[in-house]
Amino acid sequence: MKKSTLNSHQLKIRFDDDNPLAMRMRNGEFSFLLEFDTPPLDRDLEKAAAMPIFLAKRLENVSSINALAVTDRLHTEDSHDPSAMAEIMGAKSGKPTVMNLSGKGSSDNRVRELTARANSEGIQTILPITGDRSDRHPENSALLHNPAHPEGYHDSVETIDHLRRHYPKTLTGAGVNPFKYNLSDQYLQYCKMLRKLATGAAFITTHAGWDMKKLQELKWFLQMREVEVPVIVRLPILSRQRIQQLHLGFHPGVPVSRAFCAVLQREAELSETQSMNAQMTRLSLQAAGCRLLGYSGVQITGIRDEQTLDLALKAINNPPPHVKTYQDWVEAWEAHHSGTQFAPANNAYYMFSNLMQPELLDYSPENSRFTEAGFPPPSRRDLLRRLAMKNLHREWIPKYLRNIIGLRFCRQCQSHRADSSAWFHLCPKACPKRLTLGACGSSFPDGTCEFGRDKCFHHRVLALAAREKMIQQLEEPVI
Ligand code: SF4
Repeated sequence: MKKSTLNSHQLKIRFDDDNPLAMRMRNGEFSFLLEFDTPPLDRDLEKAAAMPIFLAKRLENVSSINALAVTDRLHTEDSHDPSAMAEIMGAKSGKPTVMNLSGKGSSDNRVRELTARANSEGIQTILPITGDRSDRHPENSALLHNPAHPEGYHDSVETIDHLRRHYPKTLTGAGVNPFKYNLSDQYLQYCKMLRKLATGAAFITTHAGWDMKKLQELKWFLQMREVEVPVIVRLPILSRQRIQQLHLGFHPGVPVSRAFCAVLQREAELSETQSMNAQMTRLSLQAAGCRLLGYSGVQITGIRDEQTLDLALKAINNPPPHVKTYQDWVEAWEAHHSGTQFAPANNAYYMFSNLMQPELLDYSPENSRFTEAGFPPPSRRDLLRRLAMKNLHREWIPKYLRNIIGLRFCRQCQSHRADSSAWFHLCPKACPKRLTLGACGSSFPDGTCEFGRDKCFHHRVLALAAREKMIQQLEEPVI
């Protein structure tokens, strides 16, 4: 793979000296963040967020926690304003707060208003995400394959671009899902991550998962592309109820193997306390691994009460004493899981075939071995469409022929004909979220769209890009 166009942007990344989280990232200090959900709108914010607010107050003098993060529209669109939640959590804890800004059901207006409010409330760090399927998204019907959400999904790339233009002092993040297990999905995630960084994001936050091989893969990918950017890894703690729901595909975007699911369920069988203790041991090992892999910090999700908070703080403050080096850590991780497979299938894709080897911490061109894999070819229909649409506006084509070709290949979205080259002239109505700047992170392990039915629309874009040796176009910034 070629060196990224990103490097020139990378040098320009600036950190505001007033932002303590940015300072820690710049100084290479490992950070611990705790994530809290912005609650649904059914009660007023102070009541609905009583527990997170109580926990935030408790954290005021806890020096091992460096920042808090608040989610936006995680479970439902009918949620409180994340800027108000971030402001309260920051005020109660005295810690910097990262505000997520979800594109789910978000118009340009919502993005403009929320970023303006966040700015006036002194929120210095924002993580734009596109968001998973909205609870307000209409169901598919036999007549209408991919009905649009009435408000749409604001692509995180566009939100990053908005922040870069209007709030250049805001520290803006980019989300990435490293837990993808087929070649196309993983490339799409990495391409979009690079596009977000090139557009103006200055740090990365990952999806929450357990597969440490995938986390090392992300690190190696960044090293291979010479992208030096702080990365925060989200680490999950689940309630027993959520563990029981895992086999129903409850954890969107992050597949959990049957083997690991069985481990979690066995741990949860006896009691909530035993389940928590086992998860905290894993959390402590994961955090130690992230530190040794060179990540900038971890963000713990699933803190819902005082007991979970106390256990998480204990896990953070007591790293495994026998784990001093990367080699120690690989051995400890393997021993703890006795060879449990984290990938959801035997043929799951990893970019490199020699990850998690005790003697190989970092990517090296000599020693890191690529997995042999090729992108699936585009369909004949997509090839024909690409050819036709690419040539549609040539002067020598008579207007009547243009209309016939346009109608044949772009019956539903003629408005896209003029500027659709960025997505290789395919019809973005095939994506239920109508995303044109890259894939969301929510596809199923086999690459099927989060909404079911077909493969993710962006697999088709990638297939054409790969055939024309233009994958780098999918990493280009929106500027
Ligand atoms: S087509 Fe792809 S990007 Fe669009 S919603 Fe489905 S999984 Fe997400």
